[in-house]
Amino acid sequence: MSVATISAPVAVKVLGEDLEVPVKGGRLVSYANLDYAASAPCLEPVSAAVAAALPAYSSVHRGAGYASQLTTARYEQARHTVRAFVGARPDDAVIFTRNTTDATNLLASCLPPQTTVVVFDTEHHASLLPWERVVRLAPPAFPGEAVRQADAALAEIDGPKLLVVTAASNVTGELWPIAALAHIAHRHGARILVDAAQLVPHRRLNLTALDLDYVAFSGHKLYAPFGAGVLVGRRDWLSAGQPYLKGGGAVKAVTDSAEWHEDAEPRHEAGTPNVLGAIALAAACDALTATGWTPLVREEERLVARLREGLSAIEGVHELSLWGPDHPRVGIVSFVVDGYTAREVAEALSGEYGIGVRDGKFCAHPFVRHLLGTSSADGGCEDGTTAAVRASIGIGTTEEHIDRLIGALRDLVTRH
Ligand code: PLP
Repeated sequence: MSVATISAPVAVKVLGEDLEVPVKGGRLVSYANLDYAASAPCLEPVSAAVAAALPAYSSVHRGAGYASQLTTARYEQARHTVRAFVGARPDDAVIFTRNTTDATNLLASCLPPQTTVVVFDTEHHASLLPWERVVRLAPPAFPGEAVRQADAALAEIDGPKLLVVTAASNVTGELWPIAALAHIAHRHGARILVDAAQLVPHRRLNLTALDLDYVAFSGHKLYAPFGAGVLVGRRDWLSAGQPYLKGGGAVKAVTDSAEWHEDAEPRHEAGTPNVLGAIALAAACDALTATGWTPLVREEERLVARLREGLSAIEGVHELSLWGPDHPRVGIVSFVVDGYTAREVAEALSGEYGIGVRDGKFCAHPFVRHLLGTSSADGGCEDGTTAAVRASIGIGTTEEHIDRLIGALRDLVTRH
C-alpha cells in the first residue's frame, strides 16, 4: 500500500489515505476515515519500524543467539521510549499489555486487599468495570463538580482507595481536570489511574508533572497496529500483586512451588510478549514526539472547529457534550440526527458517501444514556434513543473529509 500525503503543517504520514471504497451504484470514492477514536491508521514510521524488525526476531530475554539479543534490545528500548513518552518517574514500572482494557484489569488484579475504587459513570467500560469494591459517581455538571464529587467520595472511604478517571472522553472528546483530581486523590491518601487511551494520540501527557500514579493506553489508538498497550506507574502494588499470567518469564525458579519475580515487568509479562506490538507502539511515540505536539494540536483544533461549526449550522443535528460547547476537547465529536437512528446515519454515510464513522454507545453505556437523557436499560443501537454517531479525527484527516461529512448530513436532514 502506498503512503499518502496529508494536509500541510503536520509532517508525518499515515498509511491508507489513498484507499477507495465502493458506494451505492458501485462507484468508488476515496475513503473518509473519521473513526480514529476506534483505531487510528498506521503511521509510516511505525510501518517502517515493524518492517525493520521482521527479518530477525526471536523470543526475548531467554536466548543468547543474535536474533534473540537483538529482539530483547528492541523490546527493552520500546519500554524506555514509552517511559519517556509519558514522562514517567525513573522508578515507575512500564508493563506491556494487550490494550487499555488489559492494563486496567491488570491493575485491578494488583490492588491491595479492600481497596475501594471511585469512578465516574462517564468512563469507558474498560475503566468502569474491572473493579470489585467500587463507588460510582454521577456525571458531574461541570469540571469543578467532578473534583468536589471525588473529594466527598474519597473522604468517606477508609482503607486503600483508587480514583479512576479518563483524561479525554471517548464519547465527547472533552478533557478532564486530571491534575486537580490527582491533587484531591492524594490529599485523601488515594492513588489515581488515568485512562489515557484517547488523550495520548492528541496531546502530550506528562505523568510526573501531573503527579499521576498510573496511566494506561493502547497502541492501536496511537497509530500503531493492534495488540499492544501499556500500564505505567508505581511499582509497589504491581510487585505485590499476583502475577497477571502464570508461566515462563514471570517465574524465577520452579520446584514443587513457584518463586515469582518481584520486579513488576517480568512478574506480569509471562509468556512470549507481543514484541512487534511493543516496537510499533514505541515507534508511534517516537514519531509523534518528532513531529511535535504544537503542529499536531494546531491542525487538529482547526479541523475540529470546522467540524463543530458545520454540525452546529445544520438544524436537526445535535452534538453531545457534558460540559458545554466551549470546554476544551480532542478530535472526537458525537452527535444525533433528528428523524434517524444512529445506525441509519452511519450506514448512509458509509454506503452513500464513503465516510467511516462509529455508531452506538461506544462502550460507555451509562454516559451515553446520560447524555441522551434517557434511563432506558439498553435500547440497543437500533432505536436511536440510546445511541449516537461519533466522528473522530487525527493525522490524515483533511478538510475535504470534514466537508464531505457536513454535506452528507445536510443531504440526510433535507431528504427526511
Ligand atoms: N478507554 C477509552 C477512553 C477508550 O476509548 C477505549 C477504547 O475505545 C478503551 C479504554 C479501551 O481500549 P482497548 O479496546 O484498546 O482496550
